[in-house]
Formats: sequence, structure tokens, C-alpha cells
Amino acid sequence: MTLPLKNENEMDKMKTEKNMKNPDVEIIVHNGISCPKKSPWPKKSAIITFIPWPFIVLMAVYILAKTSILMLGVWSAAFLLFAIPLRYLICAPCPYYGQSCSTIMGKVVPFVFKNRPGTPLALGLWLDIVSFTVLLIIPIPYAWNIGGVGLTAAWVGVFLIFLFALPIYGCHYCPFTYCPIGKAGRGLARWFHGTT
Ligand code: SF4
Repeated sequence: MTLPLKNENEMDKMKTEKNMKNPDVEIIVHNGISCPKKSPWPKKSAIITFIPWPFIVLMAVYILAKTSILMLGVWSAAFLLFAIPLRYLICAPCPYYGQSCSTIMGKVVPFVFKNRPGTPLALGLWLDIVSFTVLLIIPIPYAWNIGGVGLTAAWVGVFLIFLFALPIYGCHYCPFTYCPIGKAGRGLARWFHGTT
């Protein structure tokens, strides 16, 4: 007899209950969700999710500097909004502020913003999705104009490496079950880790 697969919420609930019962895991409540107090991510997560970013920035600058200085300015502004104010909305209030987490920002943000514990992260996480979309799409027609299918595929490919690395090495360990990125990415992570 085949047992029905448990849905995502049931799996997340089971994971949380398992943590709650483990006396070695200290639990805190964040935005109504029970989370381990100590960052649940392995150290490699922050490194792996960071690796695509220098390539993303260099490729975007190369493509747009050769084609449209105006759009280079627009892309740079979008990147700075993503890299700084969004970290104020997401990373400064995060319970893993100052710890190694799914990205390098857990360790970097304390140099820029004070901790704002208790503030909800959901708005910032939705804006992260908007940022990923804008940063990915702007260079596509310009990459096509100067490099055709090869450069366009290279640009989309390098961005997709990040978009795959985040769920596989970040969201897979993340306790924030309300996160819209994690909701979409956990299925991919479960498939990759063979935990479906
Ligand atoms: S689910 Fe993924 S994107 Fe969302 S907060 Fe967790 S690690 Fe970050």
C-alpha cells in the first residue's frame, strides 16, 4: 500500500515538533513560529549562495555598460536597493542577525544596521522576489543585442545558479515557513536532497 506524501506544511510542522522535542535544541518564537535559537544553516550555505553574485554583478555591468548607460544606472540602483534597504527590512530584524545563515548577510548586516528584533520580515521577503525578477530581466534584451543567444544564456544561467543555490542550500534549512521564496523553493530542495 502506498502512503500519501505529506504536504509541505505537515513536513514543516513535523520538523518543528521534532526540534521542540529535542532537549539539545534551544527554541525561540519568531513571528509566531518556533525556530532554533542557533542558526540551523551549515557554514557552506552562506559561501555557496554568495559565489554567483560577483559574476552576476560583473556580467550585468559588462552587458549594460556596452549597451545602455541609462539602464546600467537603473540596474545599479535596483541592486543597491536590494543590497542595502532590503537588508534593513529582512536581515536586521532576523533572529539570526550576526550569525552565519543562508547568505553572507547574517554576518555583514551588523556592520550596517542595528538589530530590530520582533519586526515582521514578510514584506521584505516579497520585495526580495521583486528584486530578483527586476535584476534578472533588465539585462536580457541588451545581452541579446550584443551577444545573441550565447551571452543571453550565460546571463540567465549565472542568475539561475543563484536561484537554485538559495533554496537548495538556504531554504532547505530555514525555519521561516511563511517565506514566499521558501514556499516555492522547498520542493526543489527536497528533490535535490532526496528528502521528498
Ligand atoms: S526560506 Fe529561503 S529566502 Fe526565505 S528567509 Fe529562509 S533562506 Fe531566506
